[in-house]
Amino acid sequence: MSTRVTVWNEFRHEKNADHPASTLYPNGLHEPIAKHLSAQGFEVRTATLDEPEHGLPDDVLAATDVMIWWGHMAHQEVSDATVDKVQARVLEGMGLIVLHSGHFSKIFKRLMGTSGVLKWREADERERIWVVEPGHPIAEGLGESIVLEKEEMYGERFDIPAPDELVFVSWFEGGEIFRSGCCWKRGRGRVFYFRPGHESFPTYHNPEILQVISNAVRWATPHQQAATPIVNVKESLEPIRAKEAAAD
Ligand code: ZN
Repeated sequence: MSTRVTVWNEFRHEKNADHPASTLYPNGLHEPIAKHLSAQGFEVRTATLDEPEHGLPDDVLAATDVMIWWGHMAHQEVSDATVDKVQARVLEGMGLIVLHSGHFSKIFKRLMGTSGVLKWREADERERIWVVEPGHPIAEGLGESIVLEKEEMYGERFDIPAPDELVFVSWFEGGEIFRSGCCWKRGRGRVFYFRPGHESFPTYHNPEILQVISNAVRWATPHQQAATPIVNVKESLEPIRAKEAAAD
């Protein structure tokens, strides 16, 4: 069975006719991501903030192996009930890929336990994303670096727990650096944060960026066996000598 992916997008900037996102992504920035993933053979659906239950009712969550999350201006409008459910699915094994300004989403902060704060600047500057872990599955097929001619700058310090694996580090024209591709495990689930994707730039039309996202979907796909109950084990699997002696 192919991996079932849900691409979640806040989808607000794109509906504002005065915003460049409305021209770059007329049907939402989730569209080019979903198209790319479908072309890669994944079973893809999309969900957006303003749908009932933010497009994430229980049946959709249960049928999602990997979720992609983009949000920016309306993090606070995501209900705590949805955040609880998405977190629970990650702990059960669902993969989660958090993009760009999703660093401030409720779900990312919940899973990290830190503030997610970072430096930023909008100055149409060049970003060079260095692959620092070339053997990692998320870097599959890439060269030494990816160049984006215009992006928003995100700079350190980025307030996150030290990643389990760091795949990308970005350099910006203005001098800052940033840990831009970070992996963590939470419960049975895998979490990947990927930095690029400011809504005023065509970043999600870039084939290398899309390749990172599909690589990350493969990496985050759950492979674990079904969960066993975690309970008080009253009967031991093997005899316990002290217990037998007490019974004599
Ligand atoms: Zn941005």
